[in-house]
Amino acid sequence: MSDKKALYEGKAKIMYEAEKPDELLVYYKDDATAGNGAKKGTIAEKGIMNNKMTAFFFGLLEKEGIKTHYVSMPSDREMLVKKLDMIPLEVVMRNVAAGSLAQRLGLAEGTPLAEPIVELYYKSDELGDPMLNHYHIQVLKLATPEEVAAIERTGLRINAILKDFLKQKKVDLIDFKLEFGRLNGEIVLGDEISPDNCRFWDSDTHEKLDKDRFRRDLGNVEGAYKEMLRRLTGEER
Ligand code: ADP
Ligand code: UDP
Repeated sequence: MSDKKALYEGKAKIMYEAEKPDELLVYYKDDATAGNGAKKGTIAEKGIMNNKMTAFFFGLLEKEGIKTHYVSMPSDREMLVKKLDMIPLEVVMRNVAAGSLAQRLGLAEGTPLAEPIVELYYKSDELGDPMLNHYHIQVLKLATPEEVAAIERTGLRINAILKDFLKQKKVDLIDFKLEFGRLNGEIVLGDEISPDNCRFWDSDTHEKLDKDRFRRDLGNVEGAYKEMLRRLTGEER
């Protein structure tokens, strides 16, 4: 790693220059944060498990015709990706009320939503990721109306694909966060899909198999990530 130049170190990953100028090497760390960095810790082997789960989900989505940044997985903790011009939006898709939605609307966690909800947040640590609507996005010039439409359409398709797939693995997809970027005039899915940015509940027991175990001090955090990796790939790590 040391001979490569780190371009950006985020809370969960480090982005390095790759050999090709239009690619990046993503290094997945074990660091975990919650509450916009207020709570910090590590989850043993999380970087390895999230790299593998993201590669798995991106492969599944590519097969369904969704464009992602995934290129290859050169090692357990590294992913080669296409460099995107990231759009600073956190795109949250929801199927069941949980977390901030449950709180804001006074719904019990676990209440099914009649149809999926798309929410858009401004990706800004300084501002605490405020929720935005289409008007805010236009005034802040974050994305064109066509780009926002493509992002929402793609987010809904991704939700349908992942929800159906996970059902077969006895996992309910409660909600998750996506990030998109631009590449050659197209909207492409970037970042990661893992228990760090999804809520996964066991379909029968409703046991949480995601980062809420860390956020809420529920214990067995590593075990939950391991169980998700096992259900997705059959792999024990
Ligand atoms: P954060 O910035 O939220 O702390 P991470 O530690 O996950 O997050 O860092 C990854 C960073 O890389 C994020 O800012 C994300 O938007 C960005 N990113 C993800 N995929 C790409 C990509 N393909 N090209 C450029 N930047 C990307
Ligand atoms: N999420 C995320 N990054 C964020 C905020 C949310 O990945 O900065 C994910 C989170 O894991 C969950 C979904 O988006 O799957 C919805 O999160 P919510 O708005 O309920 O926020 P939280 O309760 O985590 O504060």
